[in-house]
Amino acid sequence: MQPHKTSPEAKNTDAHKGYVPRVLVVDDEQRIRQACTVLLQKDGYHVEQADNGQVGLEMIEAQHFDIVLLDLMMPSLSGFDVLAHIRDSHPDTVVIVITGYATLDHSVAAMKQGAFDFVPKPFTPNQLRAVVSKAINYTRALTDIATEKSRMRVLINRLSDGVMATDDKKRVVLCNPAFRRLLGFQGMYQPGRDASEIKGARPLLELMDQALAMPRDEFVELALELEVGSTGAEEGRVLAARCFPFRDRQGLNLGTITVLQDVTAQRRMDQHKSDFVSMVAHEIRSPMSSVLMQLNVLTDGLAGDLTDKQREVLERTTARIQSLVQLSSELLDLSKLESGLISQERERVDARPVILDQVELYLAQAQERSISLTAELPASLPRIVFHRQSLEEVLSNLISNAIKYTPEGGNVWVSAEVEGDELVIRVKDTGLGIAPDDQDQVFRRFFRVKSADTRYITGTGLGLPIVRQILDAHHGRIRLESTPKEGSTFTVQIPIAAEGAR
Ligand code: ADP
Repeated sequence: MQPHKTSPEAKNTDAHKGYVPRVLVVDDEQRIRQACTVLLQKDGYHVEQADNGQVGLEMIEAQHFDIVLLDLMMPSLSGFDVLAHIRDSHPDTVVIVITGYATLDHSVAAMKQGAFDFVPKPFTPNQLRAVVSKAINYTRALTDIATEKSRMRVLINRLSDGVMATDDKKRVVLCNPAFRRLLGFQGMYQPGRDASEIKGARPLLELMDQALAMPRDEFVELALELEVGSTGAEEGRVLAARCFPFRDRQGLNLGTITVLQDVTAQRRMDQHKSDFVSMVAHEIRSPMSSVLMQLNVLTDGLAGDLTDKQREVLERTTARIQSLVQLSSELLDLSKLESGLISQERERVDARPVILDQVELYLAQAQERSISLTAELPASLPRIVFHRQSLEEVLSNLISNAIKYTPEGGNVWVSAEVEGDELVIRVKDTGLGIAPDDQDQVFRRFFRVKSADTRYITGTGLGLPIVRQILDAHHGRIRLESTPKEGSTFTVQIPIAAEGAR
């Protein structure tokens, strides 16, 4: 039997972006088909009819319908068979079951098999309208999701940064072309593969494990730099990877997102800058040191007597040159740290005597400014794996800052204790404090707080960046808590060396 066409199409009164929703009525009762058609056409739907299941299926195969109004009780092919076929082959078509009161059980069974809703016969125009309009809203939501998905897919595929998403078993859900290109992955990519099968992604697996283990109240972006594609003859590319978990509404980790960025040019540029700075610093330091020596000859009176005015000028000059020598030494330290030289010379260090030595070194300077400097240490401390001179540098920077930025008569405490598997060193002062906005900034190179109180305190703005670099190189951390006009506490956390570690 030929399908009935019920053109001309009615005006779509409920236009959604100009789209006319398409409805198919499959029922062997002509009266019902006709009633549905008239009513829905009036409401602006495009309606077609089929008087049995077989014809209905053929029509569904030939064209898309948003909604199928389906009678369950039809001769030959039953409504259940039609429903099963639609569920399997046309999941974006919504089925509404039309059924008599006597077959309410069937309607429930049909719902269980994937029907969206049902209208019991006989129904009023309003009942039909309500069910159909609910179904249309549902299909629109599905269409919107599909459109959004397609938009996201195009966007992600066209990004120049690599993006990979995995589920909570580290199986790849999405991996854009840039990600594969950056890692030099040539093979066929199939979603569902284990992330470890993507060549080059292995260093990222640990990052994913950490992201998946992240507690629900924490959201930290995990970062890693990796070098790929280096051969004996050719330098590789440097990739910056960032990884974080994505969560459901309860905050459970559903999987990970990893973003890869090619930072080769940036890193090469940093390297050139750092080489240049260290070359200039080195070239400046030697002549400056010899100028200092010659100034000392003059101020010591070895080249003849000086007038008070001459001595004053020479002393000011000496102070300026000393700060230049200090600046070039610190710049050299920074570039040494950046090149990774420091971290190669680690040893097991007992931090206790190192802390005590550094406190002692600064006692005289503290006394000069009537500042009390005290060490509060337990009888023994576990060892840490550290570059000894760098540990001294961390302490000396923090203690000298605490003294420098504390007004006369204040207090500075240096304490250390074990917290979990870390050695925690605190340098606390009752000094000027640092405003909240400046607290992150003080770890940036050359940053110095500018205020009436700090105007006459000299420095380079490189001490804290050096401290941070040293700690980064030793898997340590530094935290700052500070209240302006009350004081600051710098807390250093360093992993305790496992027995036998070097
Ligand atoms: P600087 O050579 O200027 O001391 P740092 O990098 O060591 O350089 O410190 C950066 C800035 O942080 C300082 O200029 C100062 O403004 C602020 N600062 C550092 N330590 C303290 C402290 N203990 N109390 C108050 N301000 C501090």
